[in-house]
Amino acid sequence: MKISASTQAIVLVLCACTATAQTPLERYLQGIAWQPYQDRAVQLLQEYLRIDTSNPPGNELLAAEFFHRLFDEQGIPNTVYTYAPGRANLYAVLKGDGSLRPLVLLNHTDVVRAERKNWKVPPFSGEILDGEIYGRGALDMKDEGLLQAMVMLIAAREKLPLKRDLVFLATADEEVGDSGSTWIIENHPELVREAEYLITEGGSNLIHQGGKTVYGIGVAEKAPFWIRMTATGRGGHGSIPIADSAPNRLASAMDRVVSWETPIRPLPSVEQFFRQIAPMEKEPRASEFRNIRKALENPAFAKALSQDENFNYLLRDTVSLTVLKGSPQTNVIPDTAFCELDVRLLPGEDPQDFLAQLRSVVADDRIELEPITRFRKPNSSATDTALYRTIERVVHEYNPQALVAPTLNGGYTECQMYRAVGPTCYGFIPVEVTPEQEATEHAANERVPVEQVRRGVRMLYEVVARVAGEQ
Ligand SMILES: [Zn+2]
Repeated sequence: MKISASTQAIVLVLCACTATAQTPLERYLQGIAWQPYQDRAVQLLQEYLRIDTSNPPGNELLAAEFFHRLFDEQGIPNTVYTYAPGRANLYAVLKGDGSLRPLVLLNHTDVVRAERKNWKVPPFSGEILDGEIYGRGALDMKDEGLLQAMVMLIAAREKLPLKRDLVFLATADEEVGDSGSTWIIENHPELVREAEYLITEGGSNLIHQGGKTVYGIGVAEKAPFWIRMTATGRGGHGSIPIADSAPNRLASAMDRVVSWETPIRPLPSVEQFFRQIAPMEKEPRASEFRNIRKALENPAFAKALSQDENFNYLLRDTVSLTVLKGSPQTNVIPDTAFCELDVRLLPGEDPQDFLAQLRSVVADDRIELEPITRFRKPNSSATDTALYRTIERVVHEYNPQALVAPTLNGGYTECQMYRAVGPTCYGFIPVEVTPEQEATEHAANERVPVEQVRRGVRMLYEVVARVAGEQ
């Protein structure tokens, strides 16, 4: 088609508009040659996965040394803190102009153990098969750790203008005892205390049927509050039943506990989660999800949602009966019987209040209730922040169809420890996976798609550049 003179003029004007609408940061990001960085990310992730940091014993010093070499080569100031034989954390920083408070990129370097016999390739090989990188830690969380390191390397090389310090913190022993992060918080709280934001694991972006991805940004965790219930009574021979024996009374109490419906208490972030995922549902559920608090006033809806295991734990404190122990012999009535409850409390809950409620449900003062874990107060981070909005914006640039929703983690991440020190903490990972891939975390054949690693470098860099540089 021939373009007339007047159309040409309009085209030129439009082009000029687009060009001037670009911010300096957008021009800066477009000027980066991404391919070499993406190639390097894949190759470095393979190398990182070859370092065996199975915990126990950990040997995370090897991982700290790996990052130390990378950062030294690029002239990024960094310190290895060896706090026990073979165990170390690494801290690196790129200084900003100080006009905004620091952003921390946190990752743990240890991985859970791997049984070689169930894997297609050796778990510490970093091999690529059909476009996926295999290795223990490929999803939890050496992929994210390596992407965070790449962000540091690119920021240094491409001279990212920083308004805040950009901190990289790699810690040992997340999978077993949190000794790495505990050591940092106890010995060098100043490294994280002043930070405004922290990004780490705990997010998950699942590709659902039909291809739509839900980006889950971890904003809160429930807190474990494990309890042992012990009944005591008269022991005897199994041939002569004792009506109020320890096991009999424990069984009645357990029945009351498992039938107990704890109150529904939707947190603001959980309301937001339901609102964001509403487009995945058909009517009338979609409308109900848009206003979950109101919908839950309808007892039939509340009951139906409580029966869905994927949603029930988001709405309330939960109790799972797990350990049971009575007599070691069938014909002996024991004088003691106990069970253990895996209780998970919502952020904002007081464990002593919960214990008092549980006592009244048990309603037997000859049954003793005793907490068996050190309780860590559950906490959460608000979603109304520049970092959250930036993540949403960048995700939509890469995947306009994606839904972005804050998530409440039923498990536990180290965000709890760091939130207590100061920063707003999010679980965010710029990698999309299928449910099948996600199921390999802590299991055999853990793997991450090569394309997601390549894309993830750029995506995480954009998030960081926007929030640490110009917004
Ligand atoms: Zn992890």
